[in-house]
Amino acid sequence: MLGGRASSFTDTATGDVVDNGQHLLIAGYTRTLAFAEAIGSRHLLRVQKHPLLSFYRPGKGFADFRIRGLPSPLHLIQAVLTSSLFTGRERSDVLRAGVDILRAAHTDHGPGAGKTVAEWLDQRRQSDGVRSAFWIPLAASIMNERIETASAALFLHALHAAFLGHWHHAALVFPEAGLSQIFAGPAAEAIAHRGGMIRCNADVRTLEMDGGTIRNVCLRDGATVPCRSVILAVPQNRAVELYPPASVRPPGLEEGQVARVSPIVSMHLWFDDPFMDRDAVGLIGRTVHWVFRKNTHVSVVISAAHDLVERTQEELVRLAVEDLREVFGRNVGQPRHALVIREKRATVSLTPENARRRPGAATAVHNLFLAGDWTNTGLPATIEGAVLSGENAAELALKRG
Ligand SMILES: Cc1cc2nc3c(=O)[nH]c(=O)nc-3n(C[C@H](O)[C@H](O)[C@H](O)COP(=O)(O)OP(=O)(O)OC[C@H]3O[C@@H](n4cnc5c(N)ncnc54)[C@H](O)[C@@H]3O)c2cc1C
Repeated sequence: MLGGRASSFTDTATGDVVDNGQHLLIAGYTRTLAFAEAIGSRHLLRVQKHPLLSFYRPGKGFADFRIRGLPSPLHLIQAVLTSSLFTGRERSDVLRAGVDILRAAHTDHGPGAGKTVAEWLDQRRQSDGVRSAFWIPLAASIMNERIETASAALFLHALHAAFLGHWHHAALVFPEAGLSQIFAGPAAEAIAHRGGMIRCNADVRTLEMDGGTIRNVCLRDGATVPCRSVILAVPQNRAVELYPPASVRPPGLEEGQVARVSPIVSMHLWFDDPFMDRDAVGLIGRTVHWVFRKNTHVSVVISAAHDLVERTQEELVRLAVEDLREVFGRNVGQPRHALVIREKRATVSLTPENARRRPGAATAVHNLFLAGDWTNTGLPATIEGAVLSGENAAELALKRG
């Protein structure tokens, strides 16, 4: 199947196209936007003119985080000082932590090196209030992990890219069609147009070596595809299996290596009466992290859903509706249709140790390259990381090929 973890399908009950999970993208995903431009689907990504993140915080209600067109870092300082999301103490906490974000251009020796997000927050003496109102939901969305587990270095680097580059980088990007219509479909057309061939339903079983070089890719049905170079663009657990056994393995791909993963629960809920007047709202201190208004329905996302992924569909829908009623009022009805998607292996869990052990694109086999959101891109496991890793691997393959 094309699309992998960023794909869409038609819901049989309603005929609506839905994603395997709502994806949150930002304008700072420059490689992703350039990729969409190159394959002709950029017009299906709507970018906010001015960055606006809407949150709902119990006790405060709706609170906006609005970034204006100022030079960096003034745009961020102004947003923190003017957002009603924070108390006075929390504002000074965030600004103090912001100094580390400014210094976090590099992940290897920046202020978060070797630490979890929780350890970094302790070091920066962040209050409980600002942790639950800001850092915990932000880490869940960006790292798909809990603060006690996620790598602070990668988290700070991602914040640096989103909030301390150009002021517009923090603008949200809303997919205006299913993810497969935006990425996989147009990419497949572009490949075919340039004379490439795509085979679906054709799992790779082995990479056949001869004299230190991969000569053939062997498929499940017994077919053998001769090759000059191979870019292994599968998830980490599959790459461990497919890596040629006799070759020196890169870090993270040792035999028997079981990559720690983090789940995401997504729900698509159809209500008779619309109740959202914003595109997206981040929920603070609730089970649901984000809720998105779609054309025909509402999509909710629960990241780092370790404790929830095994719950029943009924339980999960009940929790989501409870949260929606808390935020949008008691007139939120019962959904007439619900689709629950549990992605147990949504992303790798980038702990400080896993972050340190991500392999680059090159391997010990001169014509084998690695790509994927789990490889060493300097970014969390995101679409942007996946696109960047693909570009890096393709560039190397072309150079060496
Ligand atoms: C529910 C959910 C929500 C997400 N939300 C966001 C978000 O808001 N923002 C964001 O930036 N990112 C998000 N992500 C992460 C994002 O989807 C991934 O980072 C990205 O899609 C990874 O792309 P990839 O190419 O590295 O891997 P994949 O998309 O996993 O692609 C790997 C491909 O390899 C194929 N494959 C596996 N084994 C074989 C084999 N043996 N032979 C041939 N092919 C094989 C698979 O079928 C698959 O198509 C989310 C992911 C999920 C699951």
